[in-house]
Amino acid sequence: MKLVRFQVQGRTASGILNNDEIAELDGGYFSPFKTLATCHPRSRVKLLAPCSPSKIVAVGLNYQDHARELAMALSETPIVFLKPPTTIIGPDDAILYPGMSVQVDYEAELGVVIRERARNIRPEEALGHVLGYTCANDVTARDLQKKDGQWTRAKSFDTFCPIGPWIETDLSPDDLLIESYLNGEQRQSSRTSQFIFNVPYLVSFISQIMTLYPGDLIITGTPPGVGPMKPGDEIEVRIEGIGSLKNRVAAELHS
Ligand code: MG
Repeated sequence: MKLVRFQVQGRTASGILNNDEIAELDGGYFSPFKTLATCHPRSRVKLLAPCSPSKIVAVGLNYQDHARELAMALSETPIVFLKPPTTIIGPDDAILYPGMSVQVDYEAELGVVIRERARNIRPEEALGHVLGYTCANDVTARDLQKKDGQWTRAKSFDTFCPIGPWIETDLSPDDLLIESYLNGEQRQSSRTSQFIFNVPYLVSFISQIMTLYPGDLIITGTPPGVGPMKPGDEIEVRIEGIGSLKNRVAAELHS
């Protein structure tokens, strides 16, 4: 099932996408829902980011092939950091290139959307707390990441977390092809079977640090091949079984 949030005739709604038609829901999809009689052709709506997380928990260096590329030792526990909810944008929204940075990189990542509150859960229970999966881009001001020695500024600019185009609920996250394309040229290609820490482990680990709420998002690290973007570029994240998330980079307008 593909769960979408969308804007139609000036209002925001949720729905289930089936082929090119969206069946509208009677509310959101984080509580029991039913479909209404109202349907919308996909071409008539604007898809929005499929969730509004209270927090985005990101994982650093979680692909074995990426760790090999960087000649780094594998970490014994996941390295986690936060991105603020103000980084979230949806499909086709613009990534704004901040004036503070001269190197803004893409990072294709599998996004995990939490379905129900999770606190101190075991890995065996973790997938029961997951609603589904989406494409994510952990946009990073690489120069500022190196300069600051910690990552808050580099990871936190508004628009630095495109997600979408929907949440796929019927999917195993264990072995999916994950790719990025810059202006149509492939830049990253790996599989989630390269994860150092798999999705159940990550959800359990993070739930032992902070309570996860419905709609919270975990982004699970990026494979080899990250690189810079510039204003005017189009970046696409493609994940097998989910779909394709495209965003354009725009120069930030200073007022
Ligand atoms: Mg990342």
